[in-house]
Amino acid sequence: MPTLLAFHAHPDDESSKGAGTVSMLADRGVRCVLVTATGGEAGDILNPAMDSPDVAENLKAIREEELMEAARIQGYEEVVLLGYRDSGMPDSPDNANPEAFANQDEEDVLRSLVRIVRRVRPDVFLGYDAHEFYPHPDHLRVHDMSVKVFHAAADGDRFPGEGDPWQIKRLYAPHVFTLRKMTTLHEAMLDRHGFSPFEQWLARLDGRPDRPESAIVRIDVTGYVERGRDALRAHRTQIDPNGSWFQVPTDLVEDVYPWEEFELLASSVETPAGSDDLFAGLD
Ligand SMILES: [Zn+2]
Repeated sequence: MPTLLAFHAHPDDESSKGAGTVSMLADRGVRCVLVTATGGEAGDILNPAMDSPDVAENLKAIREEELMEAARIQGYEEVVLLGYRDSGMPDSPDNANPEAFANQDEEDVLRSLVRIVRRVRPDVFLGYDAHEFYPHPDHLRVHDMSVKVFHAAADGDRFPGEGDPWQIKRLYAPHVFTLRKMTTLHEAMLDRHGFSPFEQWLARLDGRPDRPESAIVRIDVTGYVERGRDALRAHRTQIDPNGSWFQVPTDLVEDVYPWEEFELLASSVETPAGSDDLFAGLD
């Protein structure tokens, strides 16, 4: 059975990066497995309606419930929690916590991932790119570990007690806030609705160039944008349903930019340029 394994840093990352694509693949019969590195316990409560001392005290357990709901909405068959502690934003006190994901021994983390990959046997692995734009220590580590597990899981000399070697076919990283996407949505919102919630995003991007089109696989997620949003809204402590994300109508997104974009970071099989399918030639 064609299999996708998505590796994310925190609960909610699986819903903000490529959720439409995963939902579509799950509907198509691809077996989808999610691995989440941390409990997201260093995150702030970003939805005013959920901001109470009670929620703050139980944030880790609540975020786990939110994650399970979001995974169910997308059609993940299995969720694996690595159980590390959220390392916090760059230069925050959480960085120094010895339980933090970013502080764990690399071989131990890699061993856990190799064991999962050799059991799940994914054709496609979703990780992160080098994240220059959002240097969260946990996201940087997901990138580093994704590249390393691509090679280590296939190498019979590495972690011989952790299952038979397995060669992942393709390693992709989702690209969410590309300049071309934000610019297109921004202009369409101004044109049709007279305002845009993307001013801030565009200022943050500051003209930063996107990866060249030739490096990008574009997946048409028409019909799946709303399901991705439902998954995001399941993260009630993190996502304000009245926030700017949701002021952009789904039909506008599907009309002007119905794509989720991914960069191919590594491949062990022939991968045609300009493909519009992460599993092209695999299932
Ligand atoms: Zn994250």
